[in-house]
Amino acid sequence: MGSHKGSRVFEGYALGKIAVYSAVKVEKAAGLGAEKEFARFEKARADTIAALDKSYMETLSKLGEAEAALFATHKLMAEDLDFEDAIRAELENDVSAEYAVHAAGAQLAEMFASMDDAYMKERANDVREVAARIVMALRQEVNGFQLKEPSIIVCDDLPSSELMKLDKKMILGIVFVKGGANSHVSILTRMLEIPAICGVEGFEVKKELDGTFAVLDAMKSELILSPDSKLLSAYSKKKAQYEENKAKLQAFKGKPTLTKDGKKVEIYNNIASSFEVENAIRNDAEGIGLFRSEFIYLEAKDYPTEEEQFEHYKRVVSAMGEKQVIIRTLDIGADKKIDYFDLPEEENPALGFRSIRICKARPDIFLAQLQALYRASAYGNLAVMVPMIISLSEVTFIHEMAALARENLKARNLPFNPDMKIGIMVETPAAAVCSDLFAAKVDFFSIGTNDLSQYTMAIDRVNPNLSSSFNPHHKAVCRLIKLSTENAHKAGIPIGICGELARDEKLLPFFLKIGVDELSVSPAYTLSLREQISYIDTREVNVEDYV
Ligand code: PEP
Ligand code: MG
Repeated sequence: MGSHKGSRVFEGYALGKIAVYSAVKVEKAAGLGAEKEFARFEKARADTIAALDKSYMETLSKLGEAEAALFATHKLMAEDLDFEDAIRAELENDVSAEYAVHAAGAQLAEMFASMDDAYMKERANDVREVAARIVMALRQEVNGFQLKEPSIIVCDDLPSSELMKLDKKMILGIVFVKGGANSHVSILTRMLEIPAICGVEGFEVKKELDGTFAVLDAMKSELILSPDSKLLSAYSKKKAQYEENKAKLQAFKGKPTLTKDGKKVEIYNNIASSFEVENAIRNDAEGIGLFRSEFIYLEAKDYPTEEEQFEHYKRVVSAMGEKQVIIRTLDIGADKKIDYFDLPEEENPALGFRSIRICKARPDIFLAQLQALYRASAYGNLAVMVPMIISLSEVTFIHEMAALARENLKARNLPFNPDMKIGIMVETPAAAVCSDLFAAKVDFFSIGTNDLSQYTMAIDRVNPNLSSSFNPHHKAVCRLIKLSTENAHKAGIPIGICGELARDEKLLPFFLKIGVDELSVSPAYTLSLREQISYIDTREVNVEDYV
């Protein structure tokens, strides 16, 4: 028995045999001559295209056009004439078609990777994926990686196309040993609600693991190999209980969120990519309370353009219809570093150059984002909030930049909502203590309890040595939340909570009693939170117990 810890991609439990996925390996080998090998390639390409068409149609019907588009792009690449020419050139060296396709794919991928344009750079991975698919077709493995029985997939990383092509009923869970929680394939995994973890340090994906029985506890982000019968039976019970609860929660879909005594609150969702909006919709979110826009920047190789950002924002806003979508402006720095921003090395990054501080120093970046956001505001109910606020001068700066963005769009004759709401995150003690002053200047507040707790208790939120000292229920934090809520309501503006505390069982009665208007949580927690709230009677809650 051995246990390996990672980070969560999507919650749940999986019990079953491991199926190891390894990337296609190609050795240099001699072929049957250029003409014969080219004919083999042509046949394999046709088979690949047929498989891509099938994946396109399946994904279109299950997840929608945006997710299916990847397969249309891959088809175009498979048909690309430059790719074909590169393969022909390789075949002149009397190599096998497998090697020629692999080498030509690597060449093209390198060319894409060296381009300045962020979109083109991203195509490098697509070319590698397409080449690997054609190689598999040449090896008569058109369907490539297949699951013979319901299994837990263990891989270093998995191309999105491989995931989409598999029968989802056969996937019990996934362990992306080297993957990140916000890669495209992780986002798709969440959308498909497959229990999964990623970033398992010190774990090596070996072929010998194939068939090993394992438990994936995606609640604790743990993979347990060869569990003993006692552990296995405990996990079977946990899984059954989890699934029963999940099924019961469906009854809360389409219902308003009400406490036992009839107080209304709204449950919004936190998302990190435009793809995740489908999850929010499926889980019946009443709005989006936090779209962490920095993930668009984190996933790009260079500054995303106004146009690229606009497409992401528009997608979320349009999908949510009349429901409110709150998009947070760029929040990088501290634990979120991006190479192309060339941020300085700092002694105390959490107290350093981050978020609005970077936007003030680089107004061009902030303006491009505001323009993209205003443009998206024409497609639904969009509001924008700015993180890490500490002073009124920052709010003045935001309003000046917003006015400039509106002027620029007017000059370009582009539609936008001139009354788009602009709010701030209350996530520093400075913002909470002066929340009366801020409330007079902005349209809404959203409390970022992750940072508010870190800065109030002076405990680095990512320092594992301090986690035992971190008290999420500290009265100082509760007092600041109460003060901010009172000041918001005195000024007649709404206030939400979008940090992890929004679904804290212990504090939930307190939040409802003081009248927080909206709680924003990951899509998967929407219905369970609605259920929990339905049991709370705010008449029985004593605020003094919390502050
Ligand atoms: C927070 O600080 O609570 C928050 C929601 O923002 P992030 O976790 O992205 O810093
Ligand atoms: Mg924060």
